[in-house]
Amino acid sequence: MDKNPTISFDFLHIMSANLSKYWTPVNFFYYSFFASNLIHLWDIYLHYRQHKVYNQKHKVPVELAQYVDEDNFSKARIYNLDKSNFGFIRDLFGLIQKNVFLWIYMPARMWYLSTNLTLELLGREHEIVSTMLFFFLQSALSTVLDLPFSIYSNFVIEERHGFNKYTMRFFIWDMIKKFLVFQPIVAGLVGGATYIVIRFEDQFFLYLWLFSITMTFILMVIYPSVIAPLFDKYTPLEEGSLRTRIQKLASDIHFPLKNIFVVDGSKRSGHSNAYFFGVFKSKQIVLYDTLFEREEEKPQPESTDDSDDKDKLIKEDLSNKEQKKKSGCTEKEIVAIICHELGHWNHSHIYKNLFISLVNMFFIFMIASIFYKDRVIFEAFGFRGEKMPCFIGLLLVIENIFLIYFEVFNFFMSIISRKFEFQADDFAKNLNFRSELINALVKLNKDNLSFPVYDWLYSALLHSHPPILDRITALKKID
Ligand SMILES: [Zn+2]
Repeated sequence: MDKNPTISFDFLHIMSANLSKYWTPVNFFYYSFFASNLIHLWDIYLHYRQHKVYNQKHKVPVELAQYVDEDNFSKARIYNLDKSNFGFIRDLFGLIQKNVFLWIYMPARMWYLSTNLTLELLGREHEIVSTMLFFFLQSALSTVLDLPFSIYSNFVIEERHGFNKYTMRFFIWDMIKKFLVFQPIVAGLVGGATYIVIRFEDQFFLYLWLFSITMTFILMVIYPSVIAPLFDKYTPLEEGSLRTRIQKLASDIHFPLKNIFVVDGSKRSGHSNAYFFGVFKSKQIVLYDTLFEREEEKPQPESTDDSDDKDKLIKEDLSNKEQKKKSGCTEKEIVAIICHELGHWNHSHIYKNLFISLVNMFFIFMIASIFYKDRVIFEAFGFRGEKMPCFIGLLLVIENIFLIYFEVFNFFMSIISRKFEFQADDFAKNLNFRSELINALVKLNKDNLSFPVYDWLYSALLHSHPPILDRITALKKID
C-alpha cells in the first residue's frame, strides 16, 4: 500500500536532480545567448519582409487609388526605403553590441566599476548607491553609443525628406537637457526599488509592485505639467472657431476639458500628432502645431540657434519652392482627430492598458522573486564573490527568463491596441465625423509620408495602429 508514495517521491526526486544537473552558469549563458539572438534575428526578418514590400510596390494599389496619388506614394516609398536601410544597419550594430557585451561580461564589469566608485566616494560599500551608479553609467554608455545613429537619422534621413527641423546646436542642447532631467528621476526610481528589494527580501515583489503603481501615477500627473514644458512650449489655443468647436464637442460628450494647448513640435520635426492628458476631472488636449493647415510655409527654427542656421534656411527655402503644396488639416478635420482621441477616453483605453501592464508586472515580479538570488544566473553573467547586487540580479532574471514571453506579450498588446483604434474611430463615426476623420487620416498619412501597404506578418506583429485602408473601410461601413 505505502509503496506508491515512495515511488512517486523517488521519481520527483530523481527528476529534479536530473534537471538541476542542467541548471549551470554555462548553460544559462548559452540559453541567454541563443534566445536573445533568435529574437533579434526574428525582428530583422520581420523588417526584411516589409523592406521587400517597399522595394516591390512601385504603383498605388487599386483599392488605395482614390486616397493616395502616385507622387506621394513614391515619395513615401523612397522615405521608408531609406529608413528601412538605415534600420538594418542600426539593428546589426545592436546585435553585435549585445553579443560583445554578453561575451565580455559587461554587466559584471559595470557593477565592479560602480562598487569601486562608491568606495572612493563614500569610503565604504553601499549597495543602493552602487546600483544607482550602475544605472547612470549604463545609460550614459547607451546614450553615447546611440548618438551617431540618432544624428544620422535626424540630420541625414529625416532632413533628406524634409522632416528634420533640428539645428545641430538645438539637438545637442535637447539631448543634454533630456539627460539632466531624466537621470535624477531614474536614480530615484532605481534607489527606491533597490531599497525595497533589500529590505523585504523574498517578499519584495508585493512592495515593489505597489511602489511601481505609485510611481506610475505620480509620473502620469507630473510629466505633462512639470516635465514636458521643460522641453516644449505649450501655448493655450487662441480664442476662435476651432476652440469653440472643440469645447462644444467636449461638453456634448461630458469630457472634463480644462484647457487646450498647442505645442511647438515643429521646432523638432515636421511629423504631426494630437493627444490628451490629465487625471480624473481635469483633462487637457494638446495639438501639434504641425497639424494645422498651412501653405508649406515651414516654421523657422528657434531664434536662439541662429548662427549655424543660414545654410539650413536656404535649403529649406529651396525645398519649399519645390513642393509648394498645402499640408495640415482643416478645422473640422482637427476636431475629428480630437474626437478620435476622446474615443480613447470614452472607452477608458488608457486605464485598460494600465491595468493589463500592472497585472503583468505583478506576475513577472512574483516569478522573478524565486530566481533573483540564484548564483547560477549571476555567475552566468560573470559576477563573482560573496555579495550579489539584488536589484541588478532581479533585472538580469527579468531580461533573460522572460525574453520570449515579452515577445508574445507585445504581440497581444498590439492586437489590443489595434482594437482600441477601431473603437476610437467608431466613436468619432457615431458622432458624425465619418468623412472628416477619413479625410484627416488620408492627410496625416500623406503629410507624414506613411507607406500605406504592409506585409501581413510585419503588420500583425508590430503595428499598434491598423493599416489606413482597414481604418477607412471600417469607417465607411454602415451599421
Ligand atoms: Zn488612436
